[in-house]
Amino acid sequence: MLKIQPSTLYSVVSDTTSIRLSESYYRYDNVEEIHITFDTDMYMYCVIARVNVLGKLSQCRLWIDEEGNVDSYQCHRLFETKQRDSSIVSYERDCPWCNEESACGDIGAVLLKLAALPDETIPFHYISEKRLSQEEKEKRRQEEYRKQQRNRMLAFGKTMLREQKRAYENKIVSLTQHQQYELQPELAYDHVDEKLYVSFRIGAQKKYVLKDIETFLERIENHIHYKYGKQLEFVHCMEAFDERSRKQISLLKQWCEERQQATWNIMDIIMAIHVLHVHLLCQKMK
Ligand SMILES: [Zn+2]
Repeated sequence: MLKIQPSTLYSVVSDTTSIRLSESYYRYDNVEEIHITFDTDMYMYCVIARVNVLGKLSQCRLWIDEEGNVDSYQCHRLFETKQRDSSIVSYERDCPWCNEESACGDIGAVLLKLAALPDETIPFHYISEKRLSQEEKEKRRQEEYRKQQRNRMLAFGKTMLREQKRAYENKIVSLTQHQQYELQPELAYDHVDEKLYVSFRIGAQKKYVLKDIETFLERIENHIHYKYGKQLEFVHCMEAFDERSRKQISLLKQWCEERQQATWNIMDIIMAIHVLHVHLLCQKMK
């Protein structure tokens, strides 16, 4: 059993400022952790303590004989730095306030705490209430974070399911509508640019100008309900178009996919649509 008297402080800490700090650190419960073992080789108690003064950490080691006299001590300031990859690297430096004549306030506070500890069997481990509540807070914070993550995942899953369900319902609706729409290509020659342009109109009786081909293809891909105007709104899917339009859509898809590799130009698509028209016309005449 390690027995320490409060007066032991004065045999180790002689500097008046350090004595004042020792008492203050002890009063503010700055000694966070103490671990006591008995070293059978040295025949002494080995005390390792962690002191936290407003976030400034230090580690104190004391060797104390069976009579409670401090044989020697060591004190290091602990530093932790956050790396770019957010890992934490810690290092230590010798305490500037500990010297041959006097130990620092941290060591003094540990001695006062040791004197106040109840008699316990060795090895003995002490954690301050403050530290415990910090650990508890951190644990609760992590638990709350995990709960939020879980809820976010659940909500995301529900949204996914809802969207899939809507797309499926839209497709069913469009299939039961039996209405078929047409995609009508229009060629125009610009005399200023000296270029041929192709554009598309979409609809049944009344046709609307298709403003963006890629968005249009996305609507088909995702079975989106879209309103072009008063007389045209429907759920997009391949089945909603007549046969000729479907072939044009396939060509447009191919053009969009390959456009980045620049294997198609606008002339290719005009030619392809033209060939398709002739081909279908021939089929009709047969
Ligand atoms: Zn020190």
